[in-house]
Amino acid sequence: MKNLLFPILFAFNILIIQAQIPSEEFDKTKMEYKGSKSMQAKMLMRHVDIWGKINEKEAKLDVTYLELLNSSIGITKEQLQKHLHSKNITNNEIGGDINSPISHIIVGNKKVFAKYFVIHDVSSPVYKTDFPTNINDESWSFNNVNKWSKKVTHVYLTRTGKSKTVADFSEGLRATKFELKILGVPSRGLYVHIELVQPRVYPPGNIKNAPVAPKPGFTNAQYEKLALLYICSSFRKGEWLVPAFHANIDQNLNDSHDDPQNFETQKFTDNVLKILLEIKKT
Ligand SMILES: [Zn+2]
Repeated sequence: MKNLLFPILFAFNILIIQAQIPSEEFDKTKMEYKGSKSMQAKMLMRHVDIWGKINEKEAKLDVTYLELLNSSIGITKEQLQKHLHSKNITNNEIGGDINSPISHIIVGNKKVFAKYFVIHDVSSPVYKTDFPTNINDESWSFNNVNKWSKKVTHVYLTRTGKSKTVADFSEGLRATKFELKILGVPSRGLYVHIELVQPRVYPPGNIKNAPVAPKPGFTNAQYEKLALLYICSSFRKGEWLVPAFHANIDQNLNDSHDDPQNFETQKFTDNVLKILLEIKKT
């Protein structure tokens, strides 16, 4: 969530790598990024390095996951509901009732349901030098979901895997510079937003923003719940959403962000595939 502005570094990236810049690949007539869903995911899931630098030309995504992205949802409402019941998961943990449709925008005169699942980190709280040793335990107070209530996302997800809905997935919400400053109100409902809890520390020296994230960046409990949120939101659309990182959406825009840091894409897609198998067995 921290604002970072490094025009020189960004300019350097463009010259050397000439990778696609998502905001320049967006087709406003269709209200989506150009290319197939796989191509979009490879552009929007590029790894975000420290200071929000994006050095990957395209994300290395699991082949089985890419096949899934282009296939139908493949699970029934009964299967998903049974799975949620068996794990005692409430609607408040998963962005709302899976029976109600996901948010939508209007393109032409047509309703178009959300297309993108945006992954953020909260970049807070910020510590001066070191992380407390208990950031992945219940005893760390920021793992209490009640700490998080600002409606700048649909769902908050703590490091112990607890989640809380602050805006139902059926509600349109804008949370990136691209939505707020470039696309404007017509984009409200196109993106679904998830904030993962992740603290930061300052690097040595005298710098305004805190860029240093823990390693690993997120816990297995976070990847598992994030995968479930992805499945539930996609189920409500009736089609797989394209996952994206905030920093990629806002790349090269003023005040672009650096989140999520130290995200391991393979852990996310592994969990999506694993949970889907569990749901099918339910
Ligand atoms: Zn963000």
